[in-house]
Amino acid sequence: MKILVLNSGSSSLKFQLFLLPGLSVAASGLVEGIGEATGAARINFADESGREKTLEYQQPVSDHRQAIRLMGELLKESGSFSDISEIAGIGHRVVHGGEKFHEPVLIDHTVIETIERLVPLAPLHNPANLTGIRVIMEHAPDIPQVAVFDTAFHQTMPEHAFMYALPYEIYNKLHVRRYGFHGTSHGFVARRAADYLGRPIEELNIITLHLGNGASAAAIRGGRCIDTSMGMTPLEGLVMGTRSGDFDAAILFYLAREAGMDIDALDRMVNRQSGLKGICGENDMRTITEAAEKGDDRARLALDIFCYRLKKYIGSYMAALGGVDCIVFTGGIGENSAVVRMKACSGLEAMGITIDHERNMGCRKDIMAIHSDDSSCAILVVPTDEELEIARQTVKVCGIRRENS
Ligand code: AMP
Repeated sequence: MKILVLNSGSSSLKFQLFLLPGLSVAASGLVEGIGEATGAARINFADESGREKTLEYQQPVSDHRQAIRLMGELLKESGSFSDISEIAGIGHRVVHGGEKFHEPVLIDHTVIETIERLVPLAPLHNPANLTGIRVIMEHAPDIPQVAVFDTAFHQTMPEHAFMYALPYEIYNKLHVRRYGFHGTSHGFVARRAADYLGRPIEELNIITLHLGNGASAAAIRGGRCIDTSMGMTPLEGLVMGTRSGDFDAAILFYLAREAGMDIDALDRMVNRQSGLKGICGENDMRTITEAAEKGDDRARLALDIFCYRLKKYIGSYMAALGGVDCIVFTGGIGENSAVVRMKACSGLEAMGITIDHERNMGCRKDIMAIHSDDSSCAILVVPTDEELEIARQTVKVCGIRRENS
């Protein structure tokens, strides 16, 4: 039997097929350009002799319904599955679970209605997630589907961390508060870090830094999130590829009045034209690091702002937690950029946090400790795997017994 994990974005559908009982990956793929003039569908899988193979098609994909059909065809063509009856459960990444969902849930009509009601909080993401769920429900109503929410892990935040100092009524009436995102990843890497250290997570204060194109930090006490940097939307907090992270909200009023920018232009600016890209015109950290090394001033500034913000969050979360046992770097940048890790930790020596330069430069695809022997706090690089975590949660919620599968 198999578990299928779906991550439906506004214009893409990522999927991964896992084999039970071990949850090894049988295939993974992507349909992109959904609803756009040009589209593509791709699947990576291992053939019978274990060789890595790819099947790829370029073709327009009109909507998510067609994307799911294409995914089914690719899975069959690759030999990854032959019939839908092989699927024991389907896990969906759902971006916004609001205050309703504290953990993954089995999807039924009530769950669908609740996710629908949360659309105003995630207008780009929740509708795409829902389409995926509905199409599967129409085609294979007997397969259990599980929703795994990006926000759920952060629902343990205390009120003083999730409330904004805005009029209380807008929380009551319009649900304006910090929700946080990347929760599946923060929870996954925190648990892996505790396992690696051989200590119960209940005893640990952990700061997790998920640094990819989107980036967020979380303060985790005893396995429970007590604060996180993203807010009501994924805009707040750290500097990101194209998102600004924290800035003075009054800048928006100033730009509206002085530059005549309307809501859509401001939205575009802070979400798509800011962050690393806004500073140096590039949002890929590899290109930025190379350019900075060659003396490009804007690239160096972008890198400096990114790492300085990171360091401020590490410091503030140490204060929030009352000390830290472990700092975890993850995500495309966190796992691969020794420069970012070094710059984010440099200057924290007075707080007992010391990185080992050689260990930090070492490149492994597995979990790795990069602190020096005299550091009071572990610093780990932990590869994240949100799809595997969604597959695990799906198995758990569906009550699938892995040893019998
Ligand atoms: P993610 O969103 O987690 O897939 O991460 C994407 C980001 O990871 C990209 O913006 C890249 O800049 C960054 N990244 C990937 N590989 C490297 C690398 N070797 N060095 C620095 N950044 C990297």
